[in-house]
Amino acid sequence: MKKINLKGMTIEEIETFVNSAGIESYRSRQIFQWMYNKNAVSFNEMTNISKNLRKKLTTLAEIQTLKILRKQESADSGTAKFLFGLPDGEAVESVYIPDQKRRTVCVSSQVGCALGCRFCQTGQMGLKRNLFAWEILDQVLAIERELGVDVTNIVVMGMGEPFQNYENVLRAVELCAHPEGMAIGQRKITISTSGLVPAIRRFTREKRRFKLAVSLNAATDEKRSRLIPINKKYPLAVLLDAVREYLQNSRCRVTFEYVLIAGENDSVEDARRLRRLLKGIRCKINLIPYNPTFPGFRAPDESKTNIFIQELLEFPAPVTLRKSRGSDIDAACGQLFVKNEKCVKIA
Ligand code: SF4
Repeated sequence: MKKINLKGMTIEEIETFVNSAGIESYRSRQIFQWMYNKNAVSFNEMTNISKNLRKKLTTLAEIQTLKILRKQESADSGTAKFLFGLPDGEAVESVYIPDQKRRTVCVSSQVGCALGCRFCQTGQMGLKRNLFAWEILDQVLAIERELGVDVTNIVVMGMGEPFQNYENVLRAVELCAHPEGMAIGQRKITISTSGLVPAIRRFTREKRRFKLAVSLNAATDEKRSRLIPINKKYPLAVLLDAVREYLQNSRCRVTFEYVLIAGENDSVEDARRLRRLLKGIRCKINLIPYNPTFPGFRAPDESKTNIFIQELLEFPAPVTLRKSRGSDIDAACGQLFVKNEKCVKIA
């Protein structure tokens, strides 16, 4: 008989399972807390459950975990990159980024990605499959187990477009935020999209309280469509309408990420256009010098970056520049190169 994987289930779903096995309902809450709060990976660890019941649970169910295939730790910053093996032989990456009191994990949401952004390794792989909710949240739990840390923040910015795997991503982050589980505050969880407008509108409609980030990367449709093909379907005006609607229903700012790529989007005129485009939008701009992982693309040099920043100084909202961290880690896969970094407030 195939065992049921309980990881990724809510308390209510675990209750349905235990009831179907003739086990009292209150056990579901205990199992939930052991899995997500105490990070148990087997029923044997659940010491407030009798031995006989643990044995019964072991015959009926399992708690799946990701396998660490590779771990690279930065000698200077504590940043660590993980390659996790999935049960079907695929693999995804996650990054752990400690920064003063914050311990952030950047998680992947898909194996590969269908969006094909021109500068992105993951995009060139195409989409292999969506991750299950348990595969998303266990990236956080596995890092906690491995490093013995309590993660405080999550960013869904790794491999994949999170909003193309909407249900599983939202299920995973809801479980991470559950007060009886990891209890990571909703405002400490950020979902980053390349601009899937229907999903942004759904996120707004459903009154989700997680933070929203949008990978903008260009301030004109012509440039953005060249870098991020999904812009042809959801051009800037449509995207920003959806963002405005989100902001009307949220007390948060939206974060616009802008990967600076030499010769593509780093001119003074690009900065001015960006300023004009985002005028009046409650936001934060996060500038990210491109980490050259893909042939033909590179970051602007420091002086060009500084000129770009100067143009944004009058922008009436926070502007940050991500400084590379853990540069001794090979961060060549997909977009993880933009996650492995630290923000420096500049305006
Ligand atoms: S940048 Fe993000 S959305 Fe674009 S192809 Fe890469 S993973 Fe997909």
